Amino acid sequence: MLTPAIFVNPARPSREIYLANPSHGLPSAPVLQAMQDYLVEEAEWGGAGAFQRHEEQLAAGYDAAASLIGAQVDEVAFLESGNRALQALILSLRLQPGDHVLVDRTCWGGTLGMLADLDGVVVDVMPADAHGRADVAATRAMAHPATRCILLTWCPATCGIVNPAQEIGALAREIGATFLIDACQMLGQRPVDVRALGCHGLAASGRKWLRGPRGTALLYVSRDFQADHPAYLADQLGRPRRDARSHEQGEASYAGRLALGVAIQGALTVGVDAIAARLAALAAHLRNGLRALPGVEVVESGEDLSAIVAFHIAGLPANRALADLVQQGIRIGTMGSLYAPLDMAARGLNEVLRAAPQVYTSEQDLDALIDAVARLSVIA
Ligand SMILES: *Cc1c(COP(=O)(O)O)cnc(C)c1O
Repeated sequence: MLTPAIFVNPARPSREIYLANPSHGLPSAPVLQAMQDYLVEEAEWGGAGAFQRHEEQLAAGYDAAASLIGAQVDEVAFLESGNRALQALILSLRLQPGDHVLVDRTCWGGTLGMLADLDGVVVDVMPADAHGRADVAATRAMAHPATRCILLTWCPATCGIVNPAQEIGALAREIGATFLIDACQMLGQRPVDVRALGCHGLAASGRKWLRGPRGTALLYVSRDFQADHPAYLADQLGRPRRDARSHEQGEASYAGRLALGVAIQGALTVGVDAIAARLAALAAHLRNGLRALPGVEVVESGEDLSAIVAFHIAGLPANRALADLVQQGIRIGTMGSLYAPLDMAARGLNEVLRAAPQVYTSEQDLDALIDAVARLSVIA
């Protein structure tokens, strides 16, 4: 199953055991090479020349993005970050005072902040089940006649739950609301099919599970949405367009766009089903190992969990744990409550430790983390 160029972790074996994958998935060698080559060509030929020489390769990246999510090629665009892609969708809705937006409890902090800044727009929060997932029946009961938009975080950044995207999509259709998905922690981790989801828009960071370069994101904008909602942040090149790329800025890192396309082609070559199966097996290994440790609490619960494992060590601040692990050659991440304020507050958490495998992770890497956490939890 393993294709070496795609699965090689550039940081190993000489550097750290790298498990901060939800923050940044390390790019494969072909992605890095594409980025470097393009930058060299730009330095030699200038922006226009390099673009001309790579026009077909750039176009192939958009084709790959469309086939990754089951979209038409005019429904995908490459933006600069997950946040920007979410802003492009929400601002293009041109919400009016009195409009309601329904978000789930794990909604991204940046998105909540932006919604709060829209004058007179009311943000309703979906009720959650015992695991913290959006409760579909309870959400249906609270939908407001003025609910213009449902924005679902498919998979949060701060723990491993997975929200019921398909069911929430059905509800959005039932009440005639625009359905938007934050797939920043999902795209590249599991198969995504925008037609099956019935969403109008979807946003995902490039550098996370897709292992693209930093400063990239994939934006999906359905043809329905395009027809009714011109791009709010369009520049002089985007303004005459009506497709998803009307949301792109003419000035951008074309090396980044090209390399994101290469990363997506890599995921398609390996197959997202195969990636998903491998990630799920590795995450279960990690989660079971951590759950068995006294003094360690794994945050997420439930049957269907993502590859993100969030936990805390009793009596040990997250930053201390992180620093101790780095000293032992293991890099994971921490998440503060800013990232998903509603969910963190509901769980009574200020911070969590977060680790996740990538396809280049081995069971031994995970065992090294489990052993290190076991030692820390004894000291704490
Ligand atoms: C990372 C993330 C974002 C923001 O993406 P950026 O690319 O960092 O701007 C939004 N939502 C979720 C769930 C994320 O994990």
